[in-house]
Amino acid sequence: MKNIAVIGAGTMGNGIAHTFAQKGFNVHLIDISEASLERGLNTIAKNLDRMVAKEKITEADKLETLNNITTFTSIAEGVKASDLVVEAATENVDLKLKIFEQLDEACDENTILATNTSSISITQIAAATSRPTKVIGMHFMNPVPIMKLVEIIRGYNTSDEVTNTIMELSKALDKVPVEVNDYPGFVANRILMPMLNESIETLYNGVAGVAEIDTVMKLGMAHPMGPLQLADFIGLDVCLSILNVMYEGFKNPKYAPCPLLVNMVRAGKLGVKSGEGFYDYSSSKKAEVVASQFLK
Ligand code: NAD
Repeated sequence: MKNIAVIGAGTMGNGIAHTFAQKGFNVHLIDISEASLERGLNTIAKNLDRMVAKEKITEADKLETLNNITTFTSIAEGVKASDLVVEAATENVDLKLKIFEQLDEACDENTILATNTSSISITQIAAATSRPTKVIGMHFMNPVPIMKLVEIIRGYNTSDEVTNTIMELSKALDKVPVEVNDYPGFVANRILMPMLNESIETLYNGVAGVAEIDTVMKLGMAHPMGPLQLADFIGLDVCLSILNVMYEGFKNPKYAPCPLLVNMVRAGKLGVKSGEGFYDYSSSKKAEVVASQFLK
């Protein structure tokens, strides 16, 4: 494997592109607009600068990594000659089905098609293609260049050969792959999201404030980050989509998203990426901000 195409230059896509490029892969980064691509490349450059400052890599490594990335606004152009495509576009079933139909048409028949989806069925995505044995979940964690885990999700039809190839590739990226089966939320989000949702419900019920809830979980459970800060970091829209997929997929009310989360997403408070969620990210100082009108 040498040529990797990454669809989506957002939070995850730019991290995935960064990680492959730093390991010497030839990366094609694809998004719908030049502006999204520019934002993605700026983030990669900033993250590489931080690594240079910490003396983890040299200035030459940074330049080589950036040189390994070419950007495209057309999927058909960007995926040409790819050995692997990793899709990291917005978490929306219809969008992903459409992208996989396009990928199936544009890619060589041997190209492996992976998705970084947090919760959507790999089997359903694979069914939009004529190559379901070559479709697999490659679920990186945020921030991708730092986090070790890759959850590898086998769809109903994913072949052993493709699974082994992606497991080995993940190890070549210095990651630790863990193989799981294809049920809503897989393992990581099936366990994480109910905890984040319950933290939001605890706030919504007025049991405690943002800082108090996060402090209890940080100091009491030794979590490196409080659940509300983590939800902001993941993106509240992403959390809501994942909860909805599990709620629909299992038809179980325990996954129903908290009304406060729904309201905040409707109001455009998406966390770090929009500048405000449970905290205000407009200045460098992190401040508690949940507006009282959002609470019961
Ligand atoms: P994001 O909103 O930050 O970025 C999504 C990007 O996809 C945007 O830049 C958007 O312009 C682009 N996009 C939308 N439609 C496209 C198309 N047709 N072609 C090309 N690009 C398109 O989202 P994100 O947080 O990076 O999430 C991406 C995927 O990764 C989702 O499936 C999400 O569930 C998953 N994921 C997210 C996290 C997280 O912590 N945010 C962690 C693991 C997995």
